[in-house]
Amino acid sequence: QGREVQWDPEQMRKIQEHPCFSEKACHSFGRMHLPVAPRCNIQCNYCVRDYDCVNESRPGVTSRVLTPDEAVAMIKKVMAQYNYIKVIGIAGPGEPLANEETFETLRLVHEFFPSTIRCISTNGLLLPEKIDLLEKYGVGNVTVTLNALDPEVGAKIYSFINYHGNRYEGVEGAKILLENQLKGIELAVKKHMIVKINTVYIPGVNDDQILEIARKTSAMGAYTFNLIPLIAQYKFADIVPPTPAEKRAMQDQCAPYIKQMRHCQRCRADAIGKIGHDVQSCVYGDEGTKKD
Ligand code: SF4
Ligand code: SF4
Repeated sequence: QGREVQWDPEQMRKIQEHPCFSEKACHSFGRMHLPVAPRCNIQCNYCVRDYDCVNESRPGVTSRVLTPDEAVAMIKKVMAQYNYIKVIGIAGPGEPLANEETFETLRLVHEFFPSTIRCISTNGLLLPEKIDLLEKYGVGNVTVTLNALDPEVGAKIYSFINYHGNRYEGVEGAKILLENQLKGIELAVKKHMIVKINTVYIPGVNDDQILEIARKTSAMGAYTFNLIPLIAQYKFADIVPPTPAEKRAMQDQCAPYIKQMRHCQRCRADAIGKIGHDVQSCVYGDEGTKKD
């Protein structure tokens, strides 16, 4: 499945010990998300910002927000208790790269926990300008949510983007976002990062984009592809999400081009543990780990 690539030993580790990049690893290893990034710089039409970023997470859950220092204290506590946690990720609750706290946290993690695998997810808008910092702090795994290659389609998915102090709407905004996503993916691959692409499957809006996204990002050097069914809310509240069979059929079409991630659980931005077996309620001492 997907294309054949020669990985170096360090890249192999970032695949084999990362529960999202390797289905085998998800039984043995865990990840810890640090919820240090509350703000977002774009507006997806399927996202209600009262909750976690739904480019990866499920809606209806608001993760707590930690300061970088609190996040480091939390890692110490978790590592002492759960030695199977190999990955430290930042996935929200907003857009990681739009929050300075993300970089301060990565700096601290790089300094105090150098053997961890570091991972971020992003909408890609700031990826080209932040890639050097990510490299500096040893981020080895990057997930980019890419929902359209045609800016006309992108304009239907994004209400606006905020970029360098200006707000751009419609095709203009979608074009800037797309250019930066593609540039960011190219740079991440060049820097030997392992790249995952998330695409939200929005029936009637981006169906005809998905196969092309899989093809193109694979050719660019992305490692794996995570097709996420739309959760109908906000401006897309009236769209009927793809059925599990439709999702599988689309994944099967994409599979010859790029490895499919089929075990995503849409975790919270403060998830801790093995995928599907989260322990954050034990760590934070509260409720709310079960999916509804
Ligand atoms: Fe919501 Fe994430 Fe889109 Fe921002 S990038 S609007 S947090 S889904
Ligand atoms: Fe992995 Fe999916 Fe959970 Fe992200 S949301 S940590 S890709 S299982």
